[in-house]
Amino acid sequence: MTIKSRTVAIIGAGTIGLTLAWHLHNLGYRVKLIDPQLANLIQAKSSSFAATGILMGCTYKKKKGRSWQLRKRSISLWPQWCASLQRYSENLTYRAGILFLASNKFEENWQRQMLLDRTGIHMRQWDRQKLDSLTPEIPKSISSALFSPEDGQIDPKGMLASICLQIIDKKIEIIPKRVKKITRLKDLWYLQFECGQSLTSHWSILCTGSDFSVPSSESSNSFETQRIRGQSLHLQLANTISNRWEYWPGSVIWRGNSLVPISNNEYWIGSTIETDNRTKGSTLNSLLNRHHIVPEWLKRSNIIKHWQGIRSRPMYRSSPILQLVAPRLILATAFYRNGILLAPSTVEWVLKCVRIVDRRYSYEAG
Ligand SMILES: Cc1cc2nc3c(=O)[nH]c(=O)nc-3n(C[C@H](O)[C@H](O)[C@H](O)COP(=O)(O)OP(=O)(O)OC[C@H]3O[C@@H](n4cnc5c(N)ncnc54)[C@H](O)[C@@H]3O)c2cc1C
Repeated sequence: MTIKSRTVAIIGAGTIGLTLAWHLHNLGYRVKLIDPQLANLIQAKSSSFAATGILMGCTYKKKKGRSWQLRKRSISLWPQWCASLQRYSENLTYRAGILFLASNKFEENWQRQMLLDRTGIHMRQWDRQKLDSLTPEIPKSISSALFSPEDGQIDPKGMLASICLQIIDKKIEIIPKRVKKITRLKDLWYLQFECGQSLTSHWSILCTGSDFSVPSSESSNSFETQRIRGQSLHLQLANTISNRWEYWPGSVIWRGNSLVPISNNEYWIGSTIETDNRTKGSTLNSLLNRHHIVPEWLKRSNIIKHWQGIRSRPMYRSSPILQLVAPRLILATAFYRNGILLAPSTVEWVLKCVRIVDRRYSYEAG
């Protein structure tokens, strides 16, 4: 069987599903991209459309293991990805560099350790004098900072729009339906939609973000996930002066929150991490008044927009779930906080897995 006659059903069209659809199509597979949100992507409510797009791959607490490998690989692939995305969307913004602010001894020590551990990765310490050159100003309670030029930020909506254009351009089949059930039918996967219709495919790749019940005949593992709400804000500085962020190095991470300058006077700040299902005003306020160390200009900024999304965290394993769970059935889901960052290494892993399995099938078939 040739690649051209093999169908791949991709269930879920967030960052992971969309990027996989594009790459598998380029390899020659007949891709069917399935998601009810494809009926109106502008209004999509998935986590991918809520993200702030921070690509934090180099600065990570671990220095070995799968998640470190995935991060490192993604960061090395992002420049190439960005160039290819910008071919379709000239206005797509990539902001190079992340500055991590330290406001206590613990954070200072972590930054010092990071500089010692990450040989081969370019990072620099910024002293207070260098921080003083920034406007709007960094509060005096921040003692030092670590600058990581290889980390960065990409506009997630611009990125997803660029991939959608490529998908439409290549006439990849899109099916705006919700998959209800998936079962094995000899060598094929049988997908039933909520509307009662169905289809079969050689491959199924589940990119639903959250858990999706895998037939118990196929896997005894648990793929349960927990829903974590995240809220973010789009703000405008109260005093508008042109080129306010001119000397700011990319984005800033501040006590686990990110600040992304997006235009002369506007910026995003995100995101909360809320484990219950209610949207809390108090948690949102904590973004504006983070541990009472935020500067006055942030407190006085005007809120232009507020948005939220759900992240999925695996219950009994580390994030993400990236696994061949049955013959030609892949789970690429539950990315929790880093699905945008990890898209390149995830796509690479899935493509490798699909190629190895298909080569083995062709070999066995003679
Ligand atoms: C507020 C916030 C800020 C974030 N900031 C960052 C950041 O700065 N950097 C970063 O890397 N990550 C960030 N993230 C995390 C990132 O958004 C996610 O990890 C990533 O978007 C996950 O992408 P995904 O494609 O796996 O899932 P999703 O974007 O959740 O997409 C899953 C899709 O599957 C579809 N689907 C579900 N069930 C079915 C079904 N049965 N049939 C068909 N379709 C189905 C859904 O409709 C949805 O469109 C943030 C998340 C939030 C909420």
